[in-house]
Amino acid sequence: AATHLRQRAWVEIDRAAISSNTWNLRRLLGPKSQLMAVVKADGYGHGALNAAEAAQAGGASGYGVATLNEGIQLREGGIKAPVLVLGSITQPEELRACQDWKLMPTVSTMREVLLCESLAKWNGRIMPVHIKIDTGMTRLGVNWEEGIRIVKVLKELNFIRTVGVYTHLAITDKSSTAKKFTQIQKQRFLAVLNGLSQYQIESVDRHLANSAGTLSDNNLYFDMTRVGLAIYGQVPQSSLMQVYALRPALHVRARITLIRQVPGGVGISYNHKYVTDRKSTIAVVSIGYGDGVPRLLSGKMEILFKGKRLPQVGSITMDQLMVDATNVEDLRVGSVVTLLGTSGNQQINAFDWSQKCNTIPWEILCGFKDRLPRLVL
Ligand code: PLP
Repeated sequence: AATHLRQRAWVEIDRAAISSNTWNLRRLLGPKSQLMAVVKADGYGHGALNAAEAAQAGGASGYGVATLNEGIQLREGGIKAPVLVLGSITQPEELRACQDWKLMPTVSTMREVLLCESLAKWNGRIMPVHIKIDTGMTRLGVNWEEGIRIVKVLKELNFIRTVGVYTHLAITDKSSTAKKFTQIQKQRFLAVLNGLSQYQIESVDRHLANSAGTLSDNNLYFDMTRVGLAIYGQVPQSSLMQVYALRPALHVRARITLIRQVPGGVGISYNHKYVTDRKSTIAVVSIGYGDGVPRLLSGKMEILFKGKRLPQVGSITMDQLMVDATNVEDLRVGSVVTLLGTSGNQQINAFDWSQKCNTIPWEILCGFKDRLPRLVL
């Protein structure tokens, strides 16, 4: 745990926060719905294994990953619970590996159904799969109107076994369009589920909601929800901030490396986009866009130090950025400041950053580079 003593910047991962967020969300879901923890893209930057273990401790009953390799990484790390590969698997070799590692593929097309069936038959092993239904995202999934046709075929095959059926919400902002379209998606999904029971395909896990769906509408829970962002203590919309006592699990910290006094009229950083308008104390923070702090935040972000917010000034550079530390008496070379996450009673979320640089919190979390060591608490 002392490794950060020799670091200029790092990402702190609070596993207990992931467990407690998962626990709170499990309570929200109630006894009828399970929680699948989505740990793709290296657990949204938190480390896939850290995230998976912490979510399991909080009551997650399975995992969603995007790729075969991400699934194998969980198995190699000792994860035993069900793992669903949410992305497409198109190659026979990939499917074979899915069977070897006991990972469940997502099936989206008739071609994939037949590929799974023939491969499973060849291997003489049943292959459990989740069928994806496209109800309006227009990405993966069999079109909902053709869903029944696929279901009929599945019923006649012997080696592929449908253990889940799911769809994915397309519009998850807080607009009224989102609310309306989510209902349309739900109705389309229900139409396919009715077809399933017609063909006596039962005891499958039905799932639709992501974080936004889970936090906003308990009519979207079905048998399971697939939650990513919220288990990491981040929210997809500002209106959902602090609603469910979610704690951010990722904190970006860096050290102050130099402090200087400058008079008014002095240009700071590349192209002098900021010029001091008074005598100022300027501190250099040892982190930059080469670590994953978006350059678009230049002049728009703040950093936290002992419960104070200091404005960042001038262009963010590759390895360093500057802050206005005027009148902050106890700041020293070597002091640790927080860029994202919690410091004292202050907090800066991925959502806050995303609003300022015209993106989404997911991209912010996935953006921290390997150069920043992960300090796992
Ligand atoms: N389900 C699928 C298919 C996804 O692609 C994702 C993430 O993008 C999720 C669930 C989790 O979404 P969120 O992070 O909004 O909870």
